[in-house]
Amino acid sequence: MSAADQPASDGDPVTPESARTGWERLTPRIPSPVVELDDERLRRHGVRLWLKRDDLIHPDLPGNKWRKLVGNLRRAADEGHRTLLTFGGAYSHHIAATAAAGRLLGIDTVGVIRGEAHRPLNPVLGRAAADGMTLTYLDRERYRRKHLPEVLDPLRERFGDFHHVPEGGSNDLGVRGCRDLGAEIAAQLPGTDLVCVPVGSGGTIAGVAAGVPPSWRVLGVSVLRGDGFLDPEVTRLQREAFGGRRGDWSIDYRHHFGGYARRTPELDGFMADFRARHGIRLEPVYVAKSLAAVYGTAGSPLVPAGSRVVAVVTGPPPWW
Ligand SMILES: *Cc1c(COP(=O)(O)O)cnc(C)c1O
Repeated sequence: MSAADQPASDGDPVTPESARTGWERLTPRIPSPVVELDDERLRRHGVRLWLKRDDLIHPDLPGNKWRKLVGNLRRAADEGHRTLLTFGGAYSHHIAATAAAGRLLGIDTVGVIRGEAHRPLNPVLGRAAADGMTLTYLDRERYRRKHLPEVLDPLRERFGDFHHVPEGGSNDLGVRGCRDLGAEIAAQLPGTDLVCVPVGSGGTIAGVAAGVPPSWRVLGVSVLRGDGFLDPEVTRLQREAFGGRRGDWSIDYRHHFGGYARRTPELDGFMADFRARHGIRLEPVYVAKSLAAVYGTAGSPLVPAGSRVVAVVTGPPPWW
């Protein structure tokens, strides 16, 4: 039994939940369901759309956060690490998911947050702290060099040996976890033409594009302001995980609605309308923008009439 197999809560009264081992608590509900949306705004362009409800796979680590973390958690356990250290912004879903995983597995987590400490903690960091994560902060200048020994070495001195997971959980292990998500879609909906995913750090699209059949197109929708800068990063992640570029993917840079975590009246209107029609509250930072891109391009050469499209609902986390 590795350290990570120990129950997290020694001393708690034995209930069915506390008697489960850490890995049992991390068991996902996969494959996540796919549902077709009936939407006249797409039908009139001859486009069919399915949602891949990956937000439902785990209550604490939904969607791509489970997909990217689980391989890293296994590696940490195999290598005997008791601590997992990762990086993120103050509103990072990945930070919160890592903290939840630490609680469920009974391992220590350290979150290195970009920028200055603010009290009281915002809801994301408050929840991470409540899950037992140790929070520490790096100024923006040093944060940019977070992958270098000059930053990592002092952290090792301070927190002891740890398994390092890069920002967003996007490394070779995380990308391979997302390849499984692509393979799942291929098994469930073999007639698909196009898969749409939101892009933040790029790990999800890098993996999904490698897991679907080579004849499918994969469209990533950048949620960050800027043009072109994610393409080399996704290429790099695919090279690290698979040894080279995989799949027919491209990234749309025109649906960020002002940039990361920004919203516009147009996006809010799209979300309200979607909720009224389908009863689904879209997560605003990533999922709403990627679906707005599908609706905004339906019928154009990007999403031509006759297309069968799968949009991956990569979240939301339940604490949002
Ligand atoms: C973190 C997150 C993403 C971003 O995925 P990347 O692999 O970083 O591109 C997308 N959707 C949701 C809901 C997320 O929480």
